[in-house]
Amino acid sequence: MNDVDCLVLGLGAMGSATLYHLARMGQSVVGIEQYEIGHGLGSSHGHSRAFRVFYHDPLYTELAEAALPLWQELQAASGDPLVHLCGFLAYGGVDNPWIERNLAAIRRSTAEFELLTQEQVAVRFPALRIPESGVACLTPRAGFLDASRCVMAHLSQARRLGAAVHQQVCVESIEFGPGGSTVRTTAGEFRAARLVIATGSWTGDVMQRLCLPLTVTRQQKFYFRPASPELLRPAVLPVYADYDTHFYGFPMHGPGIKVADDSPGERTHPDRINRTIEHARGESLRNWLTGLMPENSFHFLEASTCMYTQTPDQDFLLGPHPNHPNVFVGAGFSGHGFKFSTLVGLILAQLAIDGSTPYPITRFQLDRFS
Ligand SMILES: Cc1cc2nc3c(=O)[nH]c(=O)nc-3n(C[C@H](O)[C@H](O)[C@H](O)COP(=O)(O)OP(=O)(O)OC[C@H]3O[C@@H](n4cnc5c(N)ncnc54)[C@H](O)[C@@H]3O)c2cc1C
Repeated sequence: MNDVDCLVLGLGAMGSATLYHLARMGQSVVGIEQYEIGHGLGSSHGHSRAFRVFYHDPLYTELAEAALPLWQELQAASGDPLVHLCGFLAYGGVDNPWIERNLAAIRRSTAEFELLTQEQVAVRFPALRIPESGVACLTPRAGFLDASRCVMAHLSQARRLGAAVHQQVCVESIEFGPGGSTVRTTAGEFRAARLVIATGSWTGDVMQRLCLPLTVTRQQKFYFRPASPELLRPAVLPVYADYDTHFYGFPMHGPGIKVADDSPGERTHPDRINRTIEHARGESLRNWLTGLMPENSFHFLEASTCMYTQTPDQDFLLGPHPNHPNVFVGAGFSGHGFKFSTLVGLILAQLAIDGSTPYPITRFQLDRFS
């Protein structure tokens, strides 16, 4: 039996960030991950995740703005390029309800934004030809994060500060008790005074008794190599999101241009997910990209599969376990959690150490669906 003060289960975006913030607060902390660190079987791998402040609710804008300095601090500590503030351009038809809602929300927030016409977009970002009639909103203090590098930076900084990491160790069962939790794993038992559960798409299984209303969906992202990459670098191209089709894409980063469909894919289970690439989906994304950047052409490079873990209202599950005050959960990030992950880690660490956080998380209570 290993006795530990703080134990973090799952070392994807949320668990790695929690491990880092706990170690930074001087806690003795251990993290457990079922696969190899940096694996590609969860939701946090790859070269990019959009960092946007353009949201339907100022709460999320506020949280994203609070996360940005934490990312910048991590970037400075690690020396790795993690944050790319190339801007985020959202566009859609004039009557698109999502654009309307997000514009109403951003007007109520403190975030900087600019409304642009099609011509202004083309002048600012020469590669882009958005549809003539419509609305475009540019948020300049946004862009993307290098996802895998962020996870690795949190983990390497956590280790440097004394955190222990056990990889390829699977949690088999958890027994919650008033004095702490007993976690049975493939490498023996751990007894933890405070437990953080950040097991992503597996959280429904790990916390079966709570019957959390989580749905896992299969998502795919595609990379294309452009014939002319010059106008597609982050200095001259923002992250672009079409709110009519729900397709979005990134500037050149990693192997090429990444594009994906934000609509929820088919329901799945993380251990039984079909990872076969759907080339027809890739082809429709390529057609969309060619329509948006008609002076370029794009060749398929590679694709990969990932998972969204959705809650019924798309709001996160973040806070203490309803019945066990020394157990804290971060899950159900509904396809938009990465940008917040360093802040989520800080919040979970504050909850584990102080029992409270100054950040507004009441919306995310675990028992709100019961
Ligand atoms: C295609 C795609 C695009 C996305 N785009 C964006 C975006 O642009 N912007 C944005 O902000 N967000 C985006 N997201 C969402 C974001 O990536 C996720 O919300 C976030 O990565 C979830 O992190 P997590 O730590 O909760 O889950 P995970 O990354 O899945 O981590 C959970 C970890 O727990 C481990 N684990 C599970 N069960 C056990 C067990 N029994 N024992 C030990 N370990 C266990 C898993 O192996 C895994 O490593 C996207 C997601 C996908 C899939």
